Amino acid sequence: MDLFKKCFDFTRIEEIKALNLYPYFHPIDANEGPVVNIYNKQMIMAGSNNYLGLTAHPYVKQKSIEAIEKYGTGCSGSRYLTGTLALHNELEEKLAKFLGTEAVLIFSTGYQTALGTISTLCGRGDYIISDKENHACIQNGAITAKGLLAEFKRFKHSDMKDLERVLASVPENAGKLIITDGVFSVTGEICNLPELTDLAKKYNARILCDDAHATGVIGEGGRGTASHFNLFEETDLTMGTFSKTFSSLGGFVAGKERVINYLKHMSPAIIFSASPTPASCAAAIASLEILEKEPELVTKLVENADYMRTNFKDMGFDIVEHPTAIVPVIVGEVEKAFLFWRKLFDAGIFVNAFVPPGVPENMSMMRTSYMSTHKKEHLDEILKQFEIVGKELKLI
Ligand code: PMP
Repeated sequence: MDLFKKCFDFTRIEEIKALNLYPYFHPIDANEGPVVNIYNKQMIMAGSNNYLGLTAHPYVKQKSIEAIEKYGTGCSGSRYLTGTLALHNELEEKLAKFLGTEAVLIFSTGYQTALGTISTLCGRGDYIISDKENHACIQNGAITAKGLLAEFKRFKHSDMKDLERVLASVPENAGKLIITDGVFSVTGEICNLPELTDLAKKYNARILCDDAHATGVIGEGGRGTASHFNLFEETDLTMGTFSKTFSSLGGFVAGKERVINYLKHMSPAIIFSASPTPASCAAAIASLEILEKEPELVTKLVENADYMRTNFKDMGFDIVEHPTAIVPVIVGEVEKAFLFWRKLFDAGIFVNAFVPPGVPENMSMMRTSYMSTHKKEHLDEILKQFEIVGKELKLI
């Protein structure tokens, strides 16, 4: 059998493209945050993770440009060897201070952070116990660790009884890492950190919380899930990304100095991969400075998302409701989702169509997400177009 047969047989995408319903890989020509340019047309962005809208902030851009002027465009080496800049250390120190943790280690992406953290901490005889709806990078981090002979168990989504069942089935003296998204990336739901940390204590497990969609969104001044629940001490490790609130690229893990030091010297994702670019580090530092100085951006973000939740509900849409920046509007079947997406796109609204296997069958959705920099007129236009399309497709 030719290994590539599956590639030649993979024609589903061409079929969707022929129907003009393909929602992915559309190139953006210009990006001001809430408004983007696609195919020479201005569109309102309602699907970005640029939560504070800082990718277009003059200070963030200026700091990135200055970093390129000073250090050049890339680091050409791993943190371990020749790829550490003063900027990397500055970002780690400032972020640790902001999050109130002993230390932080940065990676080149959030995805790599999960892979590099989980598979370095968990090996032969250790147990990874992960929520079924955790992000793909966590699942893949656990699978990598499984290759190193760690055990990988999953519990039903946010089901603390099922988590306890799994914990009780694991050998008492094995090393255990419970992993959860702080804010789940598809639905925007906040995890049950109080019960997770209670169970971790009871069964002598450690916790890793992925705050990719929580930093800059929940907690005091956007300090994330541990802050939201006031469980700083109990949350052993928090990981996150610079690709959302921090308007850049890269990831981080935060925790006790001894654990971070171990990861720094043992994680293949640090040792064998080039460090984040100077421009990426500078953008993340500048975004962090703005977040610290202007916590009202976080309040504005959640207000914007609340406004959308209230109005979608009033129109009769079926939405998933959690106090974060993500507002999924349920559409149902895949075909309807692609059609809904196309009609919105033609009307100048850019959202994400999420379909199975990313979501359960018949739960295809327009996953909308908001920014602090959306103005009321942007939000009202999004609502207007959703109402028109929702009525056309008989969803409302
Ligand atoms: N964790 C979660 C929950 C995410 O949603 C994402 C990105 N969508 C990541 C990790 C990966 O982050 P990055 O984009 O920096 O690779």
